[in-house]
Amino acid sequence: MRKSTVRLLTGIVVPLLAPRASTQPSATSAPVTDIRYEVTFTRANGERRQVTSAMTFTVGGTEAVLLSIPKWTPGSYEIDNFARDVANFSAEQAGATLAWDKLDPNTWRVRPRSVGEVTVRFDYLADSLDNGNTWARPDFLLFNGTNLFPYPKGRGFDFPASVTVNTEAGWKIATGMTSSGPRRYTASNYHDLVDMPFFVGQFDLDSAQISGTWVRFATYPSGSVTGGPRVAVWEALKRAIPAEVKVFGDVPWTTYSVLQIVDPSYSGGSGLEHQNSHVDVLGPGMLGTPVLPSLYSHEIFHAWNVKRLRPSEMWPYRYDTEQPTPLLWISEGITDYYADLAEVRGGIVDANGFYTMTDDKISEVTATPPAALEDASLSTWIHPRDGTGYIYYSKGSLAGLLIDIMVRDASDNRRSLDDVMRTLYNAAYKNGRGFTSDEWWATVSKAANGKSFTDFYARYIDGREPFPYDKVLPLAGLRLAHDTAHVPQLGIASLQDSSGLHVTQVVPESSAAAAGVQPGDQLISVGGFNADDPNWTEKFRARYARSPEGSDIPVVIRRGGAEQTLTARLRFVSRVDSHLSEDPRPSAKARRIREGLLRGITQP
Ligand SMILES: [Zn+2]
Repeated sequence: MRKSTVRLLTGIVVPLLAPRASTQPSATSAPVTDIRYEVTFTRANGERRQVTSAMTFTVGGTEAVLLSIPKWTPGSYEIDNFARDVANFSAEQAGATLAWDKLDPNTWRVRPRSVGEVTVRFDYLADSLDNGNTWARPDFLLFNGTNLFPYPKGRGFDFPASVTVNTEAGWKIATGMTSSGPRRYTASNYHDLVDMPFFVGQFDLDSAQISGTWVRFATYPSGSVTGGPRVAVWEALKRAIPAEVKVFGDVPWTTYSVLQIVDPSYSGGSGLEHQNSHVDVLGPGMLGTPVLPSLYSHEIFHAWNVKRLRPSEMWPYRYDTEQPTPLLWISEGITDYYADLAEVRGGIVDANGFYTMTDDKISEVTATPPAALEDASLSTWIHPRDGTGYIYYSKGSLAGLLIDIMVRDASDNRRSLDDVMRTLYNAAYKNGRGFTSDEWWATVSKAANGKSFTDFYARYIDGREPFPYDKVLPLAGLRLAHDTAHVPQLGIASLQDSSGLHVTQVVPESSAAAAGVQPGDQLISVGGFNADDPNWTEKFRARYARSPEGSDIPVVIRRGGAEQTLTARLRFVSRVDSHLSEDPRPSAKARRIREGLLRGITQP
């Protein structure tokens, strides 16, 4: 309700304003046709850490052309204002310089002198290592179209465009875009154009056929993933992708590219999804850890869930404002549930591995202040600092598990959450639209033989009540045990979510807060354990479990480019650990549900 108003207004206001003769700045660009983009990245650009973007188009008169650069990259759910990285903007027509000024912070107003071709050109500062942004090294460039490709404001996004990349001879290019000539690529509309990031330069690249299409694996720097570790990545992709394809019965891409950067300046890892590729940025400590197959499975599942099956609030994408949706827990949390399912169904982990991943999510939710999935979904755009900002990942994943079990129970294991996902994919995406909350719950209820989810929704999705694990898990022959441990805790976490964010979270009033650690600091090490190690918290707890309360703990952070060592005082807290295990004597039905869930089958 709240959402379609905004979109309708734009659709109506734009055509009304356009013909009006006014001295007020019009919100709509003059029409432009034959749009071409050109990206220039040489070794010299790389040394300067910038890239040059040019846009050429044809105008039919002298009316002002309004060119906007997106405020965000879809999938990242934060306003980045990429226009801030633009430098040396210029415009020309037939060799003459054109006048320009800014219409708003993200929009340039260019004044053509006559009918004909216009070119605008700018440099983009490429020093942000973020998978939604643009990042250059002397021999390499990652760029996103949302950074480098302006669009004519108010003219819709259904225009075809081409991209030519000028770069050093012998350097490679990897992208999901369709090639239409040497280093030339085309997209049929702007949404596709900016949804296909590029690797340009020197990097390793190989490919393999999976589920009947070519999958490419591009890794920078050259040599960062070779030999056994590279074989292991391919093994994971060959196991996870078919398990995900089976959910939808559809391979939605003609090729898929995994674009991966490893850099020592980055700790942890993050991925950002696109329709036929994703970009991973990893610290060296992530290589070879179980986090990687989990990250790939998550990002690739997004090719269906969010890039195609998408909440109506984000359909179509727009680039000039936030697009909050209360359903992000479906797009992110349920994607994370399917990442775990793809791993167990594909044989990357066994059932116990699946239970351990679920335990971690339950423990994370238990340790977080109560937050409704719909509220956390909406709030992510402002990055809440109370610890609930990204809870829609883990809690949304657990909601997926509970709904899956309830659908299987109510349908005697004839249907599952897989049917819900596939039904909505066909009903909404295949008909060129987003899905609504009502449609989601109606589809869930129908799959569950008409069982009502009104109460479940009110208490656990819109509401903040603790999940009913003890009621639902036994329906799948599972049980949850809890034990309380007295554990050392400083109240600090370095959180890399899968949308490209990399932030330190500090619990208010905690020992870390008292030591002066601030949200946003880059965490280097805690008590001698490198924060790049995905298991540092476990190692920290084991090392200090018997130390006296109040012991000094060195915390090394980087703030504003400088490293600092702070001293925190050791505190102990009571922590509830959850352990999911199989009921050794489940009912025949519960056993079928458990096996069906783990293997991806429905069978009474
Ligand atoms: Zn995600």
